[in-house]
Amino acid sequence: MSTLDDTHDPALRSWVTSANDAASEFPIQNLPFGRFRRAGSIDAWRIGVAIGDQVLDLKLVAERTGWTDAERERLLPLARSELNGFMARGSQARRALRATLSQALREGSAWQDALSSCLVPQAQAAMAMPCEVGDYTDFYTGIHHATAVGKLFRPDNPLLPNYKYVPIGYHGRCSSLCVSGHDLRRPHGQIKSEAAPPQFMPSQRLDYELEVGALIGPGNELGEPIAMPNAEQHLFGLVLLNDWSARDVQAWEYQPLGPFLSKNFATTLSPWVVTMDALAPFRAPFERPAGDPPPLPYLDDANNRQHGAIAITLEVWLQTEAMRQRGEPAVRLMQSNFRDAYWTLAQLVAHHSSNGCNLQPGDLLGSGTQSGPQEGQGGSLLELTYGGKQPITLPNGETRTFLQDGDTVILRGFCERPGLRRIGFGDCAATVQAARGLSSTL
Ligand code: MN
Repeated sequence: MSTLDDTHDPALRSWVTSANDAASEFPIQNLPFGRFRRAGSIDAWRIGVAIGDQVLDLKLVAERTGWTDAERERLLPLARSELNGFMARGSQARRALRATLSQALREGSAWQDALSSCLVPQAQAAMAMPCEVGDYTDFYTGIHHATAVGKLFRPDNPLLPNYKYVPIGYHGRCSSLCVSGHDLRRPHGQIKSEAAPPQFMPSQRLDYELEVGALIGPGNELGEPIAMPNAEQHLFGLVLLNDWSARDVQAWEYQPLGPFLSKNFATTLSPWVVTMDALAPFRAPFERPAGDPPPLPYLDDANNRQHGAIAITLEVWLQTEAMRQRGEPAVRLMQSNFRDAYWTLAQLVAHHSSNGCNLQPGDLLGSGTQSGPQEGQGGSLLELTYGGKQPITLPNGETRTFLQDGDTVILRGFCERPGLRRIGFGDCAATVQAARGLSSTL
């Protein structure tokens, strides 16, 4: 478990003055990693750290600073644009680099002149997927989501009997992972309504899912499970994740083997990886309601009970095509908190590897949809509209059951606590494009 140190001091200020703006998601206490290049260029992707409204280019930092050999050695994989290589080195290297960058970016740092020339405005940067993701697993830790969705199908018995014992998940697909800003095309699929035979057509019930994505740092050998006390050491950092879902395709295909084409056409990630170290001040106890079964011993340990959860406020925002044309900003549809997940990230790591399955640096674990306990806190339209039966009305009078072409969905996330500097994740956004016409001449 990451501990607090002087990099979390809320009084720290940066010579990058935009980072000191209270509204900035990237103050000096955050320092998330991403992969970028100048927009419009065909340069190779570079690893950068977000600070205020700027990106610190770590390739230039490695070239232009007179840092010690140990510091430069830690920067090497990053200077070569290999975030995975750095992720594999674990929490010690990550914390050491964080300490170095925190010192170098502080007001009064002797490195200000050298590092000023290593900044690129975020407004001029194009972002790529932050790392190579070799495997992607999506879990189902949002108990309020599982209950609300279960109720639509089984009003008397919404939660299946395994839910409170097994962190439920399925293996997802990596090739269709996209970074924020990539539009997504409405998928076709087999859709079955009422008594008619199924038809192949564009999805009419396209939805988003508000999730947190965890990226693995050091992996484990095949056949060597990760025990709970070590599980946090295998986490590198978190992103926001939108698990786009075609509900009509899902309803027809999901039994007996689970989601397939209803989920694998696109998954959008936010571009900045917020490290476990930046999140350390926002840890929370892992608690279950009285009367719920305790986790089995292989999914339990004292640290997890004390600090296993993370308090992250999560939000979904929507801007329709009509709103965009009239210059109206996006509206917030809901808010929930990652603290309410039924399983912690450490439990997901321990469970995933408990049979000897090997995790590798850059692997992605999705949290499942994070809905809150209250009415109106559904993390998908499926929940907010009760399965499409009760449309939501937007401030401009438009209504939605599911997404329309031209809709932009934006996920946002931030951590705040009294006495601490607020940190954010940056937007995870994408716009729905009309379904492609099917070619009959191939
Ligand atoms: Mn999902």
